[in-house]
Amino acid sequence: MDINAAQISAIVENVIKSMGTAPISTSKQKGVFETMSEALAAVEVAYKQFRSYSIEQREKMISVIRRLTLEEAENLAVLGVEETGMGRVSDKIIKHQLVANKTPGTEDLQPTVKTGDCGMTLIEMAPFGVIGSITPSTNPSETVICNSIGMIAGGNAVVFNPHPNAKLTANYAVDLVNRAILEAGGPENLVVSVANPTMDSSNEMMKSPIVRMLVATGGPGVVRALLSSGKKAIGAGAGNPPVIVDDTADIEKAGKDIVAGASFDNNLPCIAEKECFAIDSITDRLIDSMTKNGAYLIKGNQIDKLVEVALVNKDGKYSINKKWVGKDAGKFLKELGIDADPRLIICETPKDHPFVSVEMMMPILPIVRVKDIDEAITLAVKAEHGNRHSAHIHSKNIDHLTRFAREVETTIFVKNAPSYAGIGAGGEGHTTFTIAGPTGEGLTSARSFTRQRRCVMVDGLHII
Ligand code: NAD
Repeated sequence: MDINAAQISAIVENVIKSMGTAPISTSKQKGVFETMSEALAAVEVAYKQFRSYSIEQREKMISVIRRLTLEEAENLAVLGVEETGMGRVSDKIIKHQLVANKTPGTEDLQPTVKTGDCGMTLIEMAPFGVIGSITPSTNPSETVICNSIGMIAGGNAVVFNPHPNAKLTANYAVDLVNRAILEAGGPENLVVSVANPTMDSSNEMMKSPIVRMLVATGGPGVVRALLSSGKKAIGAGAGNPPVIVDDTADIEKAGKDIVAGASFDNNLPCIAEKECFAIDSITDRLIDSMTKNGAYLIKGNQIDKLVEVALVNKDGKYSINKKWVGKDAGKFLKELGIDADPRLIICETPKDHPFVSVEMMMPILPIVRVKDIDEAITLAVKAEHGNRHSAHIHSKNIDHLTRFAREVETTIFVKNAPSYAGIGAGGEGHTTFTIAGPTGEGLTSARSFTRQRRCVMVDGLHII
């Protein structure tokens, strides 16, 4: 869907109006508090009430969250792009639809039963209680809604400390979730947040005895902080997903799929293809397919100039220029004096180029020519930095597919499709925006936010 500037202004105006006269006023937003202490006190009360709600009632709340997310997907997408200056409205709409349609609810909770001569033992998935969740700027409302569905399905309440650069969008989502819960007859403030999240509010949340579990979705800093909190924590950290194309692949399709995945929401998703390793004999055809499918090829000193725009070089160590994360490809090209608005910029680089090693989250894809699959796998594993997050391959050789999967050891591994197939968009399986590689839950869902409890009956209920 294409949206023009006037439509975007109208949506932002409406969304801001719905928040009250000042955008950061919390007066009209449900679940959003001035201080973390107030948010924690409110969610504690809500959780106590929620304990008496049935699973059917949880599911009713979730179904209204799904409906409101679909109805307001465009508002959320526009607000996210406006506030953060990152990503594409049309792609963010799809992300919200994915959250609404493919985040598992209570059906994800499956009890286990063991029976035998001694009787019957039942293992159920019980709530943790109040969960503290820290969310990123790259998927602000998507993460709030996806976490809320899974956590409520598990019987929990949630307190969010959103990314400060995306607080309006995240808190709009907190308000939406609360509106849905109330419409479905649920308690007030089951999902809460703070109007102005800071490191102090984050620390207060992490240390609060009310909070029984922590979930971090973001870069390495936040995952480290949560994992050293002393509480049960789920860490969903950074990625730098490589994609390999070998000489057995359907090259036309590989080029098209890689452009679709790497350009999606301007490469913000942590799962998106961020560097490509192509076998020399097919690289020209691959580049041809990419340029036919929305990519723009730059060469020579254009690449050096793009490095100066996109990255910061401190004593030979490169990092991202944060101002450029998630910007449209056309804006980068303008800096190079090129007037074009493609979905993706591609360039051939050597294997040790900073575009290969840095997780850029920009619509720029470096392509490295390699002599064979051995070199491709070695370089791809190195570029992934041991994050064990996501990796992708286009190949019809089962040995190549299997070897790469074994060696890269990522949580998500997509074969012969755009990267987003790994989170349920055009691929089988559920979606999530919290992919927990470091702590091993994988693609989180309701069951990730539960604790197992065992109930033992001796000499009874065993009926054979
Ligand atoms: P970020 O790390 O800058 O911020 C994430 C959140 O952590 C924010 O709310 C931030 O305020 C907070 N934070 C940062 N350092 C902290 C600390 N030391 N203590 C407490 N809180 C802290 O992330 P971002 O730039 O918004 O998002 C992009 C990063 O997140 C990328 O690295 C991307 O790969 C990763 N990401 C991972 C997943 C996943 O599911 N694994 C999903 C989305 C994004």
